[in-house]
Amino acid sequence: MIRSLTLNRKRRRDQLMYCMETSWPEVQAYFKTNECVMIITGSLECHGVHNPLGVDTLVPQALAQRIEKQSEILVLPALPFGCCDYLKGYPGTVSLSSETLRCVVQEIVDSLRAHGARRFLFLNGHGGNLPALEQVALRLNTQGDLGVIANWWQMAKEIDPAWGGGHGGGEETAAMLAICPEIVHPERYRDSILKPVSENIQTTGFKTVQFHGVTLTMPQPVAALCDNGWTGPDHPQTATAQWGEAMLEAISQLLAQLISELKTVPLKECYEDQ
Ligand SMILES: [Zn+2]
Repeated sequence: MIRSLTLNRKRRRDQLMYCMETSWPEVQAYFKTNECVMIITGSLECHGVHNPLGVDTLVPQALAQRIEKQSEILVLPALPFGCCDYLKGYPGTVSLSSETLRCVVQEIVDSLRAHGARRFLFLNGHGGNLPALEQVALRLNTQGDLGVIANWWQMAKEIDPAWGGGHGGGEETAAMLAICPEIVHPERYRDSILKPVSENIQTTGFKTVQFHGVTLTMPQPVAALCDNGWTGPDHPQTATAQWGEAMLEAISQLLAQLISELKTVPLKECYEDQ
């Protein structure tokens, strides 16, 4: 599937370097002229009954492949586990604490910095990872290095507001239809109904409720509210492979431009470890 596409391929100088398939002398040579690294962060988490658990990992992996011919950057193996406390009631979902994820990502970053990496692009597929990633990126930027987080689903919405969506809805399902339609199950599409808290408090999302037209924050275990696991305004039945294809193409082009830009951002001459 996705993984096999990355193997046994002749690599050119202008292509991605997958760390998993590269020897240490090649990485050493890379760091002599390049300080850029891409770290893909995903999750293993319920995305409705129609999507696989790996959506948040598979989509950014596919985006990385799409920028392959446009960018030279060292790509770390995708982290398939993220912070999924809201959805851990659904079988197969695996959740790390934010602190565990922060430690893991920080130690990955530290390992790479020791050999010359200074510009880090975190290509993120999962919103729950953000608090941990922000801590790591803040530390990098405080040290005089560069840490930037690209959340693909937010990029999509800002490139074209019609592409924005919720969790496991049309946006993510469209991406999956473009990447790997054989693991999407349109015959299982159905409405997602969130149980209300009371007569006047309606659940509107994983952490939001509405009371007389006003939004309040109320984080809840989603499996207790919803027998399906997708939420959002974008019903999965609106998803098409064409939408997914256009969206992934637009995002990958922007990411390629971003990588070029990150290479030109001036860094401090010296920095101190914290
Ligand atoms: Zn997702």
